[in-house]
Amino acid sequence: MKNRKLLMIPGPVEFTPEVLAAMGLPTTSHVAPNFIEVFGQALERLREVFLFPGSQPFVVAGSGTLAMDMAAANLIEPGDRALVVSTGYFGDRFAAILERYGAQVTVVQPPAVGDAPPPEAVAAALRQGPYKLMTVTHVDTSTAVIADVPTLAGLGQEHGALVVVDGVCSVGGEELHPPEWGVDVVLTASQKALGVPPGLAILLAGPRAMEAFRRRKTPVQNYYADWANWLPIMEAYEARKAAYFGTPPVNLIWALNVSLGQILEEGLEARFARHRHLSDAFKAAMDAIGLSQVPVSRYRAAHTLTAPYYPEGIDARLLGLIGQAGAIVAGGLHPAIRDRYFRVGHMGAVAPSDILTTVGAIEWALARSGYRFDVGAGLAAAGRVLAG
Ligand code: PMP
Repeated sequence: MKNRKLLMIPGPVEFTPEVLAAMGLPTTSHVAPNFIEVFGQALERLREVFLFPGSQPFVVAGSGTLAMDMAAANLIEPGDRALVVSTGYFGDRFAAILERYGAQVTVVQPPAVGDAPPPEAVAAALRQGPYKLMTVTHVDTSTAVIADVPTLAGLGQEHGALVVVDGVCSVGGEELHPPEWGVDVVLTASQKALGVPPGLAILLAGPRAMEAFRRRKTPVQNYYADWANWLPIMEAYEARKAAYFGTPPVNLIWALNVSLGQILEEGLEARFARHRHLSDAFKAAMDAIGLSQVPVSRYRAAHTLTAPYYPEGIDARLLGLIGQAGAIVAGGLHPAIRDRYFRVGHMGAVAPSDILTTVGAIEWALARSGYRFDVGAGLAAAGRVLAG
């Protein structure tokens, strides 16, 4: 029997064989012509995949937190005011990062875990400004809540704040149109819906953000994250020239370029629709077996992951059983409800068969745990959505 388990956590996710093959190529010099060409192409493709023409991409070795750090370090000067729209753990992390660079941070919290701050509350906070910058977590991976980015970004723009979107759990999976929606910075990491193993911090900065960076009066308080160090490197590779500041992760960038090519081949609209469809199927299965979810409504629920509550009498031991049945899922992350729910990622290269396998594994584990339900109801519900 095969002993391979599906990786269905909210990142890292399953990757395509072509992306993984790029990880195994013999590593070349970061100034070799075959690397320069690929890095240059990947930078160009990022603008297309992020639907963010006219933006400046930064691709740096690191995780998503480094991308958040880069946004804060380069756009905040001590004393600047920043507004964080929080929908969970990662909004609160952004507040901590901004504070580290000397920002005076106001956090707008949601009325309840699983909800998002209403636009009226954000507008009221913005009226107390001016704020230099506002952050929105597109999908907070701790709650599976999706924020209403177009409305919130519109409000931020109206009040003169730079709008920074943490797209770590959304870019490449959720609809996002930065220029049309008034977003100035979109950041992400490689290991989620972009479909590349962990290790890349990726950030695209629009013209207003680059202008704010250029107008800084004080030096960036982080040497590694300073755009002044990275901008010439990104510009050089895009012009198909070599340049050095810190050694780029050669194989990861090859893999990124392969994945970006695959994403463009699928088409962004088709990719967003696939994520919605598979998410609908998975969520229908959870409904059918009686598991409620952390987001307070379907409208608030992301399409890149699902956060079901354990049913009465079941706890995190369920995760081990789901693993035995062939799917690895993640435990809770939000401190207020950590032990009461689990998280299933369904983004990137995810296929209908992955959804069915995972639902089947959850049903098997629930049945083994003594939870009484109509075994097979989840698979039937998912199957109906997938077929329809
Ligand atoms: N923001 C969000 C929304 C995330 O989901 C994550 C990672 N789960 C991060 C930021 C931080 O990314 P990383 O773990 O790659 O540092």
